[in-house]
Amino acid sequence: MRPDILNPLFADVTALKGIGAALAKPLERLGLRRVVDVAFHLPTGWIDRVPRDELMASDAGRVIAITLTPREYRTSSGRGPTRVQATDAEGNYVSLVYFGGNSGWAKKLLPIGEPRRVSGRLDTYGQELQIVHPDLGEPEEEFREREAIYALSEGLTSRRMGALAAQAIERAPVLPEWIDSGLKATRGWPDWREALARVHADPADTVARARLGYDEVFANQLAMTLVRQSTRARRTRALAGDGRLRDALKLPYALTGAQARTVREIEGDLAQSAPMLRLLQGDVGSGKTLVAAMALLIAVEAGGQGAMLAPTEILARQHYDTLRKLLSGLPVEVAVLTGRDKGRVRESTLMALAAGEIDILVGTHAVFQEAVTYRDLALVVVDEQHRFGVAERMMLQAKGVRPPHLLAMTATPIPRTLTLAQYGEMDVSRLDEMPPGREPIETLVMAEDKLDAVVDALGRHISDGGQAYWVCPLVEESEKSDLAAAEMRAETLRRRFGERVGLVHGRMKPAEKDAVMADFSANRVAILVATTVIEVGVDVPNATLIVIEHADRFGLAQLHQLRGRVGRGGGKSRCLLLRGAALSETSRARLALMRESNDGFHIAEEDLRLRGGGEMLGTRQSGEAAFRLVPPDQLADLLQCAQDDARLLVDRDGGLEGPRGQAARTALYLFDRDAGVQLLRSG
Ligand code: ADP
Ligand code: MG
Repeated sequence: MRPDILNPLFADVTALKGIGAALAKPLERLGLRRVVDVAFHLPTGWIDRVPRDELMASDAGRVIAITLTPREYRTSSGRGPTRVQATDAEGNYVSLVYFGGNSGWAKKLLPIGEPRRVSGRLDTYGQELQIVHPDLGEPEEEFREREAIYALSEGLTSRRMGALAAQAIERAPVLPEWIDSGLKATRGWPDWREALARVHADPADTVARARLGYDEVFANQLAMTLVRQSTRARRTRALAGDGRLRDALKLPYALTGAQARTVREIEGDLAQSAPMLRLLQGDVGSGKTLVAAMALLIAVEAGGQGAMLAPTEILARQHYDTLRKLLSGLPVEVAVLTGRDKGRVRESTLMALAAGEIDILVGTHAVFQEAVTYRDLALVVVDEQHRFGVAERMMLQAKGVRPPHLLAMTATPIPRTLTLAQYGEMDVSRLDEMPPGREPIETLVMAEDKLDAVVDALGRHISDGGQAYWVCPLVEESEKSDLAAAEMRAETLRRRFGERVGLVHGRMKPAEKDAVMADFSANRVAILVATTVIEVGVDVPNATLIVIEHADRFGLAQLHQLRGRVGRGGGKSRCLLLRGAALSETSRARLALMRESNDGFHIAEEDLRLRGGGEMLGTRQSGEAAFRLVPPDQLADLLQCAQDDARLLVDRDGGLEGPRGQAARTALYLFDRDAGVQLLRSG
């Protein structure tokens, strides 16, 4: 249960003074429902104001604070702004401008002849000076020279947010310290409550900010470490394969160095009686399937069963085909089970599985989550792990008396630091070497207004027998508008290329989707227009051209994965990235990065660096954990530090019973990572 000391923070926002229904709504829109959410809604920046006695044109562009006396109202007819002419102590004029308000309201706020303290950005407008929507105070009231700016929604101001945060901090208890005292001293970090107060008072206080960021990543890493501890504490069967199946495998090529190393790492893990928790990261085309196959063979050699899970029907069937071909001639029974298998077929597969007649089952995540019983499930391989969160991972561990060994695979290139945040409970192997003979994909960036030239190039490409993907823009985060754009593009291309154009999107029924993909595989369809559903898996070597519209709207990791649909052994491949007209510096740099590099991990690291200064890490890019409080440029440092500290703490006090352990429990609750504490209970 949540420690009582946190109760004031977990109260509803309406517990704060002055929050009625009118204010609760904009707060709700910002996701601020509890007092703690308000406290953690940190300023995104600040303004520095200059106190002045006199208006000066040379201050234009600055935020000033000054005492002014309203002299006259000028309301323009129609929808124009209300202007209040006011003077400083010397009689210099400035207009205070309000858009969208009525003049009655201005008269009430700024009565003629009554001095007011006014603050805002001084601008020149023709010959005049003006301040648009100034902040107002009592005549003697001083504005703070530095004021925090917050992310807002309609009906809120930064001053209001600041005042609410101050109230939240007022209610906040002094919490026991969970940070290691040595670390805290070295970094010069304040106590938690003080840090919070300092950041709201002075958003430029980087030391206080770092402490809060650290708290958040520490809670995250600690939760991961507890997942790890509870899994590793369970006992399972050590799998010692004798090599008979792997030796019988006839491969037309040798393993790459990275594949061989990874297989050894997996073999080492499987030989332990603690369940394996390993993440295999490897760029598209790096050969993860073969590594998975080797791992599955070890399980079968040891007399157990293996399961391989894929995020989609198409991928599951593809893996099934690949494995069956690869393992043909070996005494290994491979079967497939997806949502499409129903009735008798399904029944007999399930029975064979329970009887141990099937050695390897390939299926979709969904199928696995239902009642599927194995005789002896020893190893689970999860492909495209990014669709599979910590919660699912934990559920997997709960399956069966003995938890299966787990190998998770992902092609989403994410920076090392974020790997730690997302998969902190796992050991990581990286396939950082491509099979030989891959030709790098040539990437070009083109302006969208050159569309005709692109379509001409596409025409030449298919009349030479080639095939192509055409990926449609991510209009919004909405499937519906993506779909509309894709349908329209397919329509235009059909006018020129007729029936050789196919369309696939996320809203199609699996069977329809498969039919289109089959047509594309067989080259009955030469151009496949698609929304991002082709992101994972699909393998058509003859498709050597990919066009991506509005490339600047995609995350780089996603672009890289899309690009990986081509370059699969059918000769030289090309990727055309179409970009909009007005591009920011960062967008330009990001597309240039795509042009210059074919290395997903390099792209991911650089992308993080490019975006580093600007935006906070949110859920914007798939693969990034949602940290609210961490300054991006400090993430790498804080994460590593938190990871080490969390592991050390759990090594010393695995039950979190000691004083620091108890404090750390509080941190888990504070950051909504209490699943970690539940594990302590049950374990
Ligand atoms: P991914 O990591 O994207 O899942 P795959 O496992 O699909 O990659 O492998 C991509 C291609 O590389 C497949 O056609 C596979 O047969 C081939 N491949 C895998 N390993 C090797 C190797 N060691 N040498 C040559 N080709 C390989
Ligand atoms: Mg794969």
